[in-house]
Amino acid sequence: GGFESLGLSPPIFRGIRRTGYQVPTPIQRKTLPLVMAGYDVVAMARTGSGKTAAFLIPMLERLKMHLSKGGARAIILSPTRELALQTFKFCNQLGRYTDLRVAVLVGGDNMESQFEDLANNPDVIVATPGRLMHHLSEVEGMSLRSVEYVVFDEADRLFEMGFAEQLRQILSHLAETRQTLLFSATMPRLLADFAKAGLRDPHIVRL
Ligand code: AMP
Repeated sequence: GGFESLGLSPPIFRGIRRTGYQVPTPIQRKTLPLVMAGYDVVAMARTGSGKTAAFLIPMLERLKMHLSKGGARAIILSPTRELALQTFKFCNQLGRYTDLRVAVLVGGDNMESQFEDLANNPDVIVATPGRLMHHLSEVEGMSLRSVEYVVFDEADRLFEMGFAEQLRQILSHLAETRQTLLFSATMPRLLADFAKAGLRDPHIVRL
């Protein structure tokens, strides 16, 4: 089946077509139905497989419309500023026919403009862990309790970059009732332990 067999709503389907995707990649074919059914998923996938759309499409479908109150509903954690900015760009492309608001919080960018983006009630936050924790400690009243969809993208690199402690702190800020996805090219022991602590009976998807 193609994207039309997934039961996507028209704005999301149009966003996919407009981005130029005709058929799902193998990782998308395996992952999308599980994520859309609400399961936690560990997906063994590397850059180039189409992994980004595999977590963005179900996220857009789940959130659908901007909510002006209540805090962010989705968080995507990226190991690097470059990856976060690229994910932000894909999110805006795929979601162009929705009114969802997306903020990106990365190091090296002006904190002030990021404060403004946060004040604008984003539905989605794409962030590097260090900068997200920094905002959590600086912004009074900022909470992750409303987050219902969490993605650890390139999780092996998140660990290699030394974010393990920040990731554990972020987990402690999240509500138990959430959907959590972890994408990684490799699964070292420390990462498997983290997945066990942070995900609930995850389905494992391999290519
Ligand atoms: P990623 O693995 O997420 O970094 O994606 C690798 C490249 O594949 C990006 O340029 C995406 O825009 C592209 N891509 C993702 N899904 C599809 C698809 N279903 N059809 C065609 N290209 C895609």
